[in-house]
Amino acid sequence: MPAYDANNIFAKIIRGEMPSYKVYENDKVMAFLDIMPRAPGHTLVLPKAPARNILDIAPDDLVAVALAAQKVAKAVVKVFNADGVTVQQFNEGAGGQVVFHLHLHVIPRKNGVPMKPPASEKEKPDVLSDHALKLAAALKDT
Ligand code: AMP
Repeated sequence: MPAYDANNIFAKIIRGEMPSYKVYENDKVMAFLDIMPRAPGHTLVLPKAPARNILDIAPDDLVAVALAAQKVAKAVVKVFNADGVTVQQFNEGAGGQVVFHLHLHVIPRKNGVPMKPPASEKEKPDVLSDHALKLAAALKDT
């Protein structure tokens, strides 16, 4: 497996070198909106520590990401009035991974509404800002 690249886009977001629509943060984890959502509210949950994917992440960071993903899942269901939630995670190019800093996709789902294809459409900044504000409010104090 290739080594972790500290210049990947999510590492830059975690270091504050690139902007994001942040919805949640603790000492080990950060969560922000996917800018090309497969459904409204599509959120990414990441460890702050460097990890390429599930093959190299430290166990305590994986636990922290899973716990945060549960909080985010509950929040997206509430805020987007969803009927369900899809949690996905891809590993290496062969496994569908495009950005090589581990992330869980948390995607609210409605009955009968298919997800858009991956990276099909960039959402408008005002829509993402509005969704991020609502999710951050729902995740405050969780
Ligand atoms: P994957 O590595 O296959 O899990 O997919 C990477 C995901 O990152 C895709 O869903 C992209 O839409 C998303 N993405 C790419 N760049 C950014 C960014 N700057 N901010 C938020 N999401 C992003």
